[in-house]
Amino acid sequence: MHELSIADAIVQVAGRQAEGRRVTKVHVKVGHLRQVVPSALAFGFGLVAQGTPVEGAELEVETVPAVGWCRSCGAESTLEGFPLRCGECGGLDLEITAGEELLVEYLELEEA
Ligand SMILES: [Zn+2]
Repeated sequence: MHELSIADAIVQVAGRQAEGRRVTKVHVKVGHLRQVVPSALAFGFGLVAQGTPVEGAELEVETVPAVGWCRSCGAESTLEGFPLRCGECGGLDLEITAGEELLVEYLELEEA
């Protein structure tokens, strides 16, 4: 379950940014290509957050669609499913322009 290692990374980043304050909410952006199952991520997050300033925080996951630029026909299209194919010509020679994100967008902290 790779969600657990992703959850661990999120908790570490959030814990560092919180600078000792308690975190109440973590908003993350996760690209479609990361193939993260949100419920599995939430479960892993609850586990690894235990005993850290992030314990009990709400995890909000925003999924970013995958977008690719086709080197064959020049079209930019949203990519769904695997293998990734151009939405216009069906070509496989794509440059991925979105969908690989994994970032902590913002935190909400308890008032000091
Ligand atoms: Zn194409």
